[in-house]
Amino acid sequence: MSHIMIAGGGIAGLTAALALHRAGFEKITVVETAREIDPVGAGLNIMPNAVRELDALGLLDRLEAGAVCTRELRYYHRGGGLISREPRGLGAGYHWPQLSVPRAHLQLTLADAVRRRLGPGALVGGVRVTCVEALPGGRPRVQLEHRDGERRSHASLEPDVLIGADGIRSAVRAALNPGEGEPPWNGMLVWRGVSRMAADRAGTFMLVAGDDRRKAVVYPMTEPDASGEVLVNWALAMPAASLADATRGDWNREVPLAKFLHHYEGWEFDGVSVPEVLAAADTAFEYPMVDREPLERWTCGRTTLIGDAAHAMYPIGSNGATQSIVDGRALAHAMALHPDPAEALAVYEADRRPAMTELQQANRRLGPEVVIDIAHRRAPGGFADVEKVIPAAERAEIAAWYAEKGAFDPKTVNLGSPYDVPVRSPR
Ligand SMILES: Cc1cc2nc3c(=O)[nH]c(=O)nc-3n(C[C@H](O)[C@H](O)[C@H](O)COP(=O)(O)OP(=O)(O)OC[C@H]3O[C@@H](n4cnc5c(N)ncnc54)[C@H](O)[C@@H]3O)c2cc1C
Repeated sequence: MSHIMIAGGGIAGLTAALALHRAGFEKITVVETAREIDPVGAGLNIMPNAVRELDALGLLDRLEAGAVCTRELRYYHRGGGLISREPRGLGAGYHWPQLSVPRAHLQLTLADAVRRRLGPGALVGGVRVTCVEALPGGRPRVQLEHRDGERRSHASLEPDVLIGADGIRSAVRAALNPGEGEPPWNGMLVWRGVSRMAADRAGTFMLVAGDDRRKAVVYPMTEPDASGEVLVNWALAMPAASLADATRGDWNREVPLAKFLHHYEGWEFDGVSVPEVLAAADTAFEYPMVDREPLERWTCGRTTLIGDAAHAMYPIGSNGATQSIVDGRALAHAMALHPDPAEALAVYEADRRPAMTELQQANRRLGPEVVIDIAHRRAPGGFADVEKVIPAAERAEIAAWYAEKGAFDPKTVNLGSPYDVPVRSPR
């Protein structure tokens, strides 16, 4: 029986564990640095192509119970003019919804399913992968550090397959690509947080607004509670002169709202006031906008990468976690169909890497959000008629270009998952 080790219990690693288990693999261990799964970050939008894969894993009902099915996305000019309204998810004819979901709900749903289906020992917290080397024949040797309070111990394991799902600063990626260094920064800072507020002040759509410098993304991610309140996710982006006081790649850095609130005064879009949303937040987190250079290869022998470890991209177009989920299913599919692990990993990489490279590059060109820049460039002071600034045909072309890059156009998604595998006897 093959032993598959997954480094990292984030969205990618946990989804891969569930997908591999569904494909008949039984000996799977997820090692996670954090002692407890304690998701930081605010909310996520998961696109229908990934929701389809989560549905195939039997998780949709539970996820929907703590999320919002987003039906509309609106782009606004910084001056208030509506650039476009796009139907999303079920509203756009997909067979699966687009989910706006608290990160904690998604990650804890996945972690709970891993423990229930694979057994309590399948997800081991407090264990960090420190080093990986390839043995003759391609099998990985993995060095692990176990932390228990102040105590540290070390171990070395030789699983049959190693999957690096350890995020943007992946140790597994570093072992495959020595000398790569820190994730490159594009000079923008992102602030994000969660606000609890009355549902009728939160809008019923996902809002993306701004100009060629500042941007705001706001959307509700829970249904109204008994007191009529919802959780609203927000993220702001702005260029920073220097990163002197920011920690690269650390999205858990708390900063006072006063640091940026004044930049968004007067930002109000069809009843959603950005300052009001921000004022309702307890805390804000700062994050430098970083990604990773596309790699020439993700795989070496029996080791490969998934999720941000493979293709971290700018948080534009709701694709980082979305594609990490698809990776997990694609990997399990390849491993189920190809008994030779090295061949399976190569097949997975050939399926996913070219498309993810294009998506990383598309996000460097601002992805679908480029419509805001175009509108601002052509009409810096605002507009009376959007058709004269950025016509519907041009907007539709941009949306279609990006949907094709991410393989989430409705026609492709509605064909059903290409990653379903017949359930096999345990391996
Ligand atoms: C502001 C912002 C907004 C975003 N919005 C969206 C969105 O709307 N939709 C979307 O799809 N995506 C979004 N993303 C991207 C998304 O958050 C990531 O793409 C996604 O979390 C990647 O998941 P992952 O499991 O690959 O990595 P991570 O979530 O980073 O998980 C990696 C895990 O590995 C663990 N780990 C790290 N190193 C080691 C090690 N050496 N050994 C063992 N464990 C280790 C970590 O503790 C962590 O738990 C956003 C990102 C940002 C910054």
